[in-house]
Amino acid sequence: MLLEKGIFFMMYMHYCKPCHRVHMLNGHKMTCPKCGGAIIELRIPYMDYVCMDMAQRSAFKEQCADKEQLKELSTTYRMYKYSKWYKELNNQHC
Ligand SMILES: [Zn+2]
Repeated sequence: MLLEKGIFFMMYMHYCKPCHRVHMLNGHKMTCPKCGGAIIELRIPYMDYVCMDMAQRSAFKEQCADKEQLKELSTTYRMYKYSKWYKELNNQHC
């Protein structure tokens, strides 16, 4: 029982512009594990991305490459700053 605790990490989707890659990372990360540059956290839930096929994933990546569409796909930076408020917001939805 104890072993099971802590093994499960929440996975979050991030996009790295320089790498042009979508990264699955455990937790809210700010830097790319590949290039160390700034990455953008995406709104899409991990499970939604996992359910995509290869064509859908590559289409999604292309959307991320577009500046305007990336804005729509990303979480806002305000949510990082006011994480308490963000958590409360999440609780309301759950
Ligand atoms: Zn990168």
